[in-house]
Amino acid sequence: MIFDGLFGFTMINILSAILYKVFLCMAVYKDAKEHEDKNAVLWAILVVLFGLIPTIIYLIFRYQKEKEFIRCPHCGKMIAKKYPVCMFCKQTINTSGPENFVSEEVKKYIIAAGVLFIIKLIVGNLINLLGARQGITLHLF
Ligand SMILES: [Zn+2]
Repeated sequence: MIFDGLFGFTMINILSAILYKVFLCMAVYKDAKEHEDKNAVLWAILVVLFGLIPTIIYLIFRYQKEKEFIRCPHCGKMIAKKYPVCMFCKQTINTSGPENFVSEEVKKYIIAAGVLFIIKLIVGNLINLLGARQGITLHLF
């Protein structure tokens, strides 16, 4: 009985760990593509392999880049923030409007990854708890 429960939880734990990385990878890849990052595939591979750490590094890189560059709302190209006119399409850039840090689609992936990460945390703790109880039971008998 305890073994069955533990096995089920272990499966959920492994599944949520895999899915969490998949969603995180999709979020980073999509975001990198949207911001014309040539290393989008490299970032995605790093996230699949190492999870949260390359994601944080990616975000720091992006934040640094976006302090100086902005996406032109007219032609979609990345342009330096200090110029009021886009060098590609010659349209004036209105920088006053608050720009979303991530797109709606990327946001969905991040939420999915976050939910799975929490599930993994809870199930991981449950496994430890059940495992500990199981240890006590075995010790008693
Ligand atoms: Zn433009």
